[in-house]
Amino acid sequence: MSDEIHEECGVIGVYRNDVNKQAAPLVYYGLYALQHRGQESAGIAANHNGVMELKKGLGLAGEVFRGETFEGLPGNIAIGHVRYSTAGDGSVRSAQPLAASCRLGEIALAHNGNLINADSLREMLTDEGVIFHTTSDSESILNLICQHGSRGIEAGIKNAMSLIKGAYVLVITINDKLIGVRDPYGLHPLCIGKFHDDSGYILASETCALEALDAEFVRDVTPGEIVIIDKEGLKSIEPSRWCRKNLCVFEMVYFARPDSIVDGVSVYEFRRQCGMKLAGQRKIEADLVMAVPDSGIPAAIGYAEASGIPYGEGLIKNKYMGRTFILPVQEQREAAVKIKLATIKHNINGKRLIIIDDSIVRGTTLRGIVSHLRDSGAKEIHVCAASPEVKYSCYFGIDTPHREKLIAVQKSPEEICEFLGADSLTYLSLESLSQVCGEDTYCKACFDGKYPMEVPVN
Ligand code: SF4
Repeated sequence: MSDEIHEECGVIGVYRNDVNKQAAPLVYYGLYALQHRGQESAGIAANHNGVMELKKGLGLAGEVFRGETFEGLPGNIAIGHVRYSTAGDGSVRSAQPLAASCRLGEIALAHNGNLINADSLREMLTDEGVIFHTTSDSESILNLICQHGSRGIEAGIKNAMSLIKGAYVLVITINDKLIGVRDPYGLHPLCIGKFHDDSGYILASETCALEALDAEFVRDVTPGEIVIIDKEGLKSIEPSRWCRKNLCVFEMVYFARPDSIVDGVSVYEFRRQCGMKLAGQRKIEADLVMAVPDSGIPAAIGYAEASGIPYGEGLIKNKYMGRTFILPVQEQREAAVKIKLATIKHNINGKRLIIIDDSIVRGTTLRGIVSHLRDSGAKEIHVCAASPEVKYSCYFGIDTPHREKLIAVQKSPEEICEFLGADSLTYLSLESLSQVCGEDTYCKACFDGKYPMEVPVN
């Protein structure tokens, strides 16, 4: 749920056809639209005739670029990144984009995802004499690309893709080019947009960034594809190896913004359908359906529609805290729920409630919410999770806890219900989730343990 699984990263790249127009301010606006994907650091690399300027820092995009005039970030090509550190440390050095100089010229890269062979790659590169400046696995990708620099950027990227295993979406700029890459499983999203006046292209993690820049959606980058944008337009390099789409279903369940369309599917509609399926699984007598905001809202609306029980707001989220708000001791953590989420007593008092959350990972925050609702006079509290039991960890860039810390591994659904202090607990079944997914093109490994590739430990 909301603050138990952390976001991964968001990437964006802007190419403006007119070399006299600046791309960095547009990337900055795009980062605002992608901020939900990571709040630890933000950065922009601007490419001015092949010369790279970089600015990055810890915090939200608005904090990192406060008062920024962008004069120091010239050029018609720029890439940006917002980060939640799933691999490497959370220091500003490991913030992205990463930039380097290689035989081909100056290069900058922004990465979303996690490599499963990061350690062996780093060891191999270190043995070859490569010096690392960060602890991030993205630096290994940058080095692998640069190793084959003498044979051209395409060869460099193909070389890296042949060696790296795991999840990666890359946005790269070098010379006069903006480049997008998606791993052969398409675990995380990357879309292509075009400015309405035909003045250039955008690559972004989610379509919500295209909307923010008043650009139109062109298409998603396909798994294993490399797209290169330069003055000749957009060129696609089809994958040379077997690829099969396995989009992370958590993108649909929680990460992506509900107004985004990911691989042709509306995130809002996906969540609403999950809520409708949930309602069909078991009949609950209740007065009000409410959501844990924000990610539980579309599923709660779907549940209300399908069950005929009215939807209403019972919790108001404090929008000014940010998801990184941390309190050091358990007592304070429990108090934090009341700071983060206030109850609307008028809607709760004396009512039988159905409360929908997107997922249950550790259950500690949800437990605090249930107790908060009881204190506000709720008569019954029926908890529904709009996804199945989370029983397996992720190795692809989503920061789930170790398996033994997942509540569905530690406890049975009855024990979880008791732990939460709820009157009943219902999970969306795997079968219902599969029905919402339709074609089997999603990674659902945290629910069913079927990873799309071999992972180090299960
Ligand atoms: S294991 Fe879970 S979180 Fe990780 S990519 Fe697969 S569905 Fe997403």
